[in-house]
Amino acid sequence: MADGMFEQAQHLPPLQGCLYCHTEGSTVLRPGRKLLGFGSDLPMLKCEHCRAVAFLDVDPDYPDSWRILYRRFDQSPRYYYVALYLGQAGWLSANEALTASTNGYVQRARLAQTRSGDLTWLRPGSLRPPPPMMTPDEKVYLTLRAVTLQETPPPGFLVRPDHGTVLDSGKLYITDQKLHLLGQRHDWSYDLTDIQDIKHDDKAWLIYLADQHHVRGLNVADQFDAQLITAVVKALCQSEFM
Ligand SMILES: [Zn+2]
Repeated sequence: MADGMFEQAQHLPPLQGCLYCHTEGSTVLRPGRKLLGFGSDLPMLKCEHCRAVAFLDVDPDYPDSWRILYRRFDQSPRYYYVALYLGQAGWLSANEALTASTNGYVQRARLAQTRSGDLTWLRPGSLRPPPPMMTPDEKVYLTLRAVTLQETPPPGFLVRPDHGTVLDSGKLYITDQKLHLLGQRHDWSYDLTDIQDIKHDDKAWLIYLADQHHVRGLNVADQFDAQLITAVVKALCQSEFM
């Protein structure tokens, strides 16, 4: 990238503010370093706040159609969403990166709201008519597709807890009182007080139940992420499940 290009790049969104941590004016662009054929000629974008490092690929003829690839990024829980959808996402177009960054900002605000006990942003409401096993006064907070109900192997078993036998799968409603799974085989209902533990990782969320079963769902692009889902369920249970 020529010197004039660096000048031009200063006006691009990744140099106005960090897409990863949303700090303003914290990013700088440095020329790429190719040594003995190793490394890259692409300029490096660095954030002085969160320490994220990314390649920024800008075509001088089309400066607005830049691409970005994160090489280093903070993976602490605070950055759960952006780590998945920016950090680990590979090359992203300008549009994809800006969308993931905006969604990450919104996710962090919703997470903070949820942890303070405020779930109004989910606009909970009753379903009319309610699905089987749900009473008309229950308020639905989350509706999640592709949820599985699985057996939880006993502790010490040589099977990872999330790999227990699948008993059913379907749509899960999480209300102010219960979990209802409308499965392909049965309808299953659990009181929120049946919940023993709630966990999430990069791929999935898990809710462990008193009867040695658990429900599990994967992170998918068009549903809430696992961190936010577990935070909502914890807020509904008014418990931390540490
Ligand atoms: Zn940053």
